[in-house]
Amino acid sequence: MTAAAWQRELSRAITTPEALVAALGLDASLLPAARTSADAFQLRVTPSFLARMKRGDRNDPLLRQILPLVEETEQYDGYVADPLAEREYTRAPNLLQKYSGRALLITTQACAIHCRYCFRREFPYAEQQEEQGAARWSAALAAIAADESLEEVILSGGDPLSLSDSRLTQLTDALQAIPHLRRLRVHTRQPVVLPSRVDDGLVAWLQSVRLPTVFVLHVNHANEIDADVRAACARLRGAGVTLLNQSVLLRGVNDDLETLATLSRALFEAGVTPYYLHLPDRVRGTAHFDVSEARARELVAGLTARLSGYLVPRLVREVPGAASKVQQHV
Ligand code: SF4
Repeated sequence: MTAAAWQRELSRAITTPEALVAALGLDASLLPAARTSADAFQLRVTPSFLARMKRGDRNDPLLRQILPLVEETEQYDGYVADPLAEREYTRAPNLLQKYSGRALLITTQACAIHCRYCFRREFPYAEQQEEQGAARWSAALAAIAADESLEEVILSGGDPLSLSDSRLTQLTDALQAIPHLRRLRVHTRQPVVLPSRVDDGLVAWLQSVRLPTVFVLHVNHANEIDADVRAACARLRGAGVTLLNQSVLLRGVNDDLETLATLSRALFEAGVTPYYLHLPDRVRGTAHFDVSEARARELVAGLTARLSGYLVPRLVREVPGAASKVQQHV
């Protein structure tokens, strides 16, 4: 079978510091640290995301999200492999339930890009996936079918859109056969970092899904939204998908008022509602991205004073054991 355009683009992803430095004309002095940190969590970026970065600028806000830095090797108290204690919420292999009424299916470990601050950068995917192929979800699907309190399933990962259209269809056909499910949610960064993923095949898959479907995208900076991303969002909306966005507040990427206000406007113009602004999770190797709660509140207060209410995301932090994400009031 011929590979789709998005699969061909994925096969051209940059995965080494050397290739990244060469592609962006960056200073080679970045290389030793980048090599060390990339050994722990591989560098990965798609050509289309790379094309939105400014050449030669090591402080580019998109580059900072994917560039391995020496700071990742520094140890800080309170920064751990699994800050959200996700292992404790495993109900079946590949099925997590943190909150009432919804459960999260780990569909794949593959992502189109590797975000250095990712809270699942050390997630034990191999432990969860004893079985291969469709069989890997059978225990999770059985657990969902047996629990009538569940009304929503969240496809997560990794990035669920890394799966082929036929694998997605197989999965959603099985979910749709469960009568108590009322909504499908998909947590994905691919329409942003790999907009070619939103192609005829993906739209056909969406049209086969009868459950109301919400995509929660992940955009941190307005520079991530170009014409291709806007076109991908328009196709998704045309297929009946509700589009929300979650951002992570990241030092050196989006921790200033003008940047966040511009992001909210750009999201809305692309048909996406700014939904959550997350305080970064305290994952080992990511302390250099941290923004204090006081600064985060100040920023959201500034957004509230400046923008219409529907353009202001909710400032939240995930706290293990809480009944929902914990909103930080400004
Ligand atoms: S796309 Fe999401 S899951 Fe994948 S590395 Fe980035 S933050 Fe983590």
